[in-house]
Amino acid sequence: MRSHYCGELKETHIGQEVTLCGWVHRRRDHGGVIFLDLRDRDGLTQVVVDPDTQEAFATADKCRSEYVLQIKGLVRARPEGTTNANLPTGMIEVLGKEVTVLNASETPPFPLDEHVKVGEDIRLKYRYVDLRRPEMLEKLRLRSRITHSIRHYLEEKGFLDIETPILTRATPEGARDYLVPSRTHAGSFFALPQSPQLFKQLLMVAGMDRYYQIAKCFRDEDLRADRQPEFTQIDIEASFVRDEDIMNLAEGMAKQLFKEVLNVEFDTLPRMPFAEAMSRYGSDKPDLRIPLEIVDMGDLMAQVDFKVFSGPATDPKGRVAALRVPGGAELSRKQIDDYTKFVGIYGAKGLAWIKVNDRKAGLEGLQSPIVKFMESVIDQVLDRVDAQDGDIIFFGADKAKIVNEALGALRCKLGADLNLYTAEWAPLWVVDFPMFEENDDGSLSALHHPFTSPKCSAEELEANPAAALSVAYDLVLNGTELGGGSIRIHDQAMQQAVFRVLGISEEEQREKFGFLLDALKFGAPPHGGLAFGLDRLVMLMTGAQSIREVIAFPKTQSAGCVMTAAPGEVSPEQLKELNIRLRQKISAEGLAEGAEGAADA
Ligand code: ASP
Repeated sequence: MRSHYCGELKETHIGQEVTLCGWVHRRRDHGGVIFLDLRDRDGLTQVVVDPDTQEAFATADKCRSEYVLQIKGLVRARPEGTTNANLPTGMIEVLGKEVTVLNASETPPFPLDEHVKVGEDIRLKYRYVDLRRPEMLEKLRLRSRITHSIRHYLEEKGFLDIETPILTRATPEGARDYLVPSRTHAGSFFALPQSPQLFKQLLMVAGMDRYYQIAKCFRDEDLRADRQPEFTQIDIEASFVRDEDIMNLAEGMAKQLFKEVLNVEFDTLPRMPFAEAMSRYGSDKPDLRIPLEIVDMGDLMAQVDFKVFSGPATDPKGRVAALRVPGGAELSRKQIDDYTKFVGIYGAKGLAWIKVNDRKAGLEGLQSPIVKFMESVIDQVLDRVDAQDGDIIFFGADKAKIVNEALGALRCKLGADLNLYTAEWAPLWVVDFPMFEENDDGSLSALHHPFTSPKCSAEELEANPAAALSVAYDLVLNGTELGGGSIRIHDQAMQQAVFRVLGISEEEQREKFGFLLDALKFGAPPHGGLAFGLDRLVMLMTGAQSIREVIAFPKTQSAGCVMTAAPGEVSPEQLKELNIRLRQKISAEGLAEGAEGAADA
């Protein structure tokens, strides 16, 4: 129906007859001449319709915003003084000769250039209109270029694109499962995959050697952060590889991707052990664009007569640490109070600080509510953080977990608030993760997933699981975990040892993972892989503020779709077919309380 895209016309097309199709972006009436800005995926072209072409003029006159048109006309240079240097097609216009309305449009729910004035729920309800905005089109176009670059890279390296089931059994990645009732197996449920983890491992047992998939994953998590219940992973697995091989492959992929899509070049990525990342940055995904570092003060604070510091300093699970902020002495009382509230979100009970006004002046040159408690060690404290005039030093003292989270988050917030960034991109590998993390009740959970290979023998693992490290690696970019993976366990005895440490009984092991344990007995090769979160990657590469901006049809914070009104109710007949009876009729709004009520009923 078209000869050209609107956005592609330029001076070289002058004199050509063209046929364009698209939407009316704007219609203006200028002294008897009608201007239509016609828009399609590629951009805008200005179409001029004269009253001479009577029929075309009459049709153009009827057109309103978002009408769908086909226009035949002649490309000509814009008259002098009317060119628009900001528009790629700004040197030309099309003299419209035939205008056909392919479809009319009601007044759109919001003018495209006024999307900021409407709430996100309206944009999501009319997502097909929202996606017409060039900015949104651009993000999805970039997303497509990213997946194309990745597919190309992996295909070149001999990876096979293989699909894995969506209706399956639980694949533990630490979230709640989405369940689908089975009609043919009354009372039984499928789980949607939290990742293709087990299937990709089975593909390695099957000898596929190199697998990848751009895979949908489903995790029913509380959506406090910027997460989506269904999201996309670039999932990779290979056989006869060591951690080095997978990291090199993934690093090569990331480098090629950034070069191709953004023309950004990365040097060889630094590698940082998990313990160092926690100690220096309070996070296993440190944002290395920010030059601030957390410094341990435990040995010094153990000596002071101030319980708030000496307590955590002498507690094996405690930590006392400092964060020096150059230039921070200028922060106002109100700003410090706000940062104190901010660290409160992470459980910190307060935020102690020292302003260094004039170091040479000794105690006189320091301003602080706490310095009086630490006079005996103050010089050492200041030396250790290399305090300079004009700095503020913040302190955290609590359980190590709280101090790390609070100071780690404060570090990132200060980096953003004070614009301390020293680079645009700061990628790194975090390695040497612990195998397990301790839950509040003292039990252990897998830090990655239970199929990750430990760095020690099964005997050592069972003797001291808390100390065991794993052969796992995470790729972190600008404080965001882009991807992660591990070398897997390919030995049945080791897999069972890990299950035992996790408190999974023999019976439960068989019931949930019998198929995996069986497969490990039939010639499973050494293998490993990783997965990248595609949505987050696209978000970083497009500079979007939320992952919803880079997903065509995202869910809301409450895991629903306002456009289709999913999830929806189903008919009693459907429920009957599925052998399901609802315990209580629950209205959509009352879902959270209602569900609890139902459990009590
Ligand atoms: N399945 C893991 C995840 O979803 C990634 C991997 O280990 O390959 O996080």
